[in-house]
Amino acid sequence: MSEDIHDVVVAGSGIAGLSAAVYAARADLDPLVLEGDEPGGQLTLTTDVENFLGFPDGVGGMELVQRGKEQAERFGATFQHGSVESATLDGQPKELTLSTGETIRTRALVVATGASARWVGAENESELMGYGLSTCATCDGAFHRGDDVLVIGGGDSAMEEALFLTKFAESVTIVHRREELRASEIMAERAREHEDIEFRWNTELQALHGSQETGVTGATLVSHPDGYPREKADAGVDVDTETVDVGGVFYGVGHTPNTDFLEGTGVERDDSGYIVPQTDADGRPTGRTTVDGVFAAGDVADPNYRQAITSAGTGSMAALDAEEYLETLSERKRQRIEA
Ligand code: NAP
Repeated sequence: MSEDIHDVVVAGSGIAGLSAAVYAARADLDPLVLEGDEPGGQLTLTTDVENFLGFPDGVGGMELVQRGKEQAERFGATFQHGSVESATLDGQPKELTLSTGETIRTRALVVATGASARWVGAENESELMGYGLSTCATCDGAFHRGDDVLVIGGGDSAMEEALFLTKFAESVTIVHRREELRASEIMAERAREHEDIEFRWNTELQALHGSQETGVTGATLVSHPDGYPREKADAGVDVDTETVDVGGVFYGVGHTPNTDFLEGTGVERDDSGYIVPQTDADGRPTGRTTVDGVFAAGDVADPNYRQAITSAGTGSMAALDAEEYLETLSERKRQRIEA
């Protein structure tokens, strides 16, 4: 274990982590950023970002992340490969065990480990993600003007993506693996009543067609009247197969927050694993968690908005709160020495 104790470690290098790193670095806290399993986070999976303030002509997701990293480095942040496997977070210093086997110590931790969009396991999805296949309609919907598109899933995310996509797409078809939606009644009703949205019940995406040059051009769907057709096909049951021409496919099958390493640390999470950010004495939002000196930023604490711009905002909040915490810590130490 290194003898060094960092002031601030930022776990995660997506927009939230980078924003926290810029703020902490500008406060001379020399943050160490652990890049995590997906360096750069979810934005690296998208092509152009058109709704991040300050880029009137849009900016590539990868470029935005790279610029953020350069900005943080310019003020003294350092970056290291690896993600946090387990952590002891009560008291001081906090100890993090990394995927590399190394143990590092820090006075304050910003958790910005994000949430990973679930994928469905269709053929070619790795090749076409970011090329007509997307997990974010708000990010990529505008590239599908006049296209026929599919939205996979039956929850609120899928309904929301489908409704958003009607602004651009010629037609939107929600593909759901059974015939009952998981979505809230209000969202389901909005989607059902929208004239440009159709449903394919008891249907799943089997394969995507196209290439990185052409983008998505089609999709193979399987269906069975009793639902869950892929499971049935795997068990040898006959299912109907159909290939349709589409210009885009959006996954809306949920996200999984990357918080397993917080098990047993005292950081409060909701039933889905998202960190629950704490409010201050006046009930206003903060970047604090239920453990002193541990802060949260970005999608790891946000199942709702999940935007690059909101992640940047909460990243700055977490770093400012960490700065204040470190000041309180050194003040307490000074008082102990004087006593
Ligand atoms: P979710 O509620 O977990 O729904 C995921 C959907 O995807 C389910 O319909 C599920 O099917 C389907 N699915 C999962 N894995 C699949 C697979 N491999 N292949 C095909 N389909 C698959 O996730 P969510 O919609 O992202 O919502 C998460 C939370 O955020 C919810 O609490 C939701 O209310 C909230 N949210 C709210 C809003 C809003 O109010 N505006 C918007 C977005 C999200 P089954 O139903 O068969 O399991």
